[in-house]
Amino acid sequence: MAASSEGDARRALVGAYREVVDLGLTELSSGNLSVRFGDGMLISPTGASGESISEDSLVYIGSEDSWDPGQKPSSEWQLHARIYRGSAATQAVVHTHSDYCVAVACHSKPLPGFHYMVGAFGGDDVPCVPYNTFGSDELARDVADALKTRSACLMSNHGATARGGNLSAAVKLAHRLEISCRHYVLARALGEPRHLTPEEWSEFHRRFGNTGYGRPAS
Ligand SMILES: [Zn+2]
Repeated sequence: MAASSEGDARRALVGAYREVVDLGLTELSSGNLSVRFGDGMLISPTGASGESISEDSLVYIGSEDSWDPGQKPSSEWQLHARIYRGSAATQAVVHTHSDYCVAVACHSKPLPGFHYMVGAFGGDDVPCVPYNTFGSDELARDVADALKTRSACLMSNHGATARGGNLSAAVKLAHRLEISCRHYVLARALGEPRHLTPEEWSEFHRRFGNTGYGRPAS
C-alpha cells in the first residue's frame, strides 16, 4: 500500500531502515533502502546508519533523476531508480551486505535450488549478477534486469538486493534471502546438497502461485 503522504513515507522508510539494522542485515552504513514516492523515490542518504538515519535526511529523487543539491543520496541510487523503472509493481527496494548473502555472492554463482524456499524469489534459484563497481551504471542495469522476473538477486563480490510491493515485503525478502544463504552455507559443510528436480519445482510453483505467498511483484 502506498504511503498517503510524504511524511508517512519518510516515517515508514526510517522505520524499515532501522528494522533492517535490527535484523542484523546492515552494519555501519553498508545498506540502503528506498520507497517509490510520487514520480520518483525517497532513498536513504549516503553514509546512513541506524543511529544517523532521520526523516529529514532522506533524499527525494524525481523522475528526472534530480535532487536537492544540498543532499547526498545513497551511491546506489541508480540501482534503485532502474528497478522501479523495470518493474511497475515494485514499491520498495532493499540493498544489503548481509553476511551470508555476501558469503555466497563472493563465489559469483547463483544460490541453487537446494531448498524449496529458494523458490519464494520467483524461480528455481536466485541469480547472481556479475561484479561491477558499486554505484556504476553496469551494476544498476544488471540488477534491474535480474529483478524483472525475480524478487531478489545476489551481486557478485558485493551483496544482495530485494524488491517488494511495499517496504515490509521488501525487508522480509531481504531477510528471507539471508536465511536461505545461511542454510546453504551450513548445508555445504557436508558437500553440495541435493537440488530439487525440475518436476519438484513445477509442483512447488503451482502450489506457491495458488497461495500468492511472497510472490514477486511483476
Ligand atoms: Zn552495496
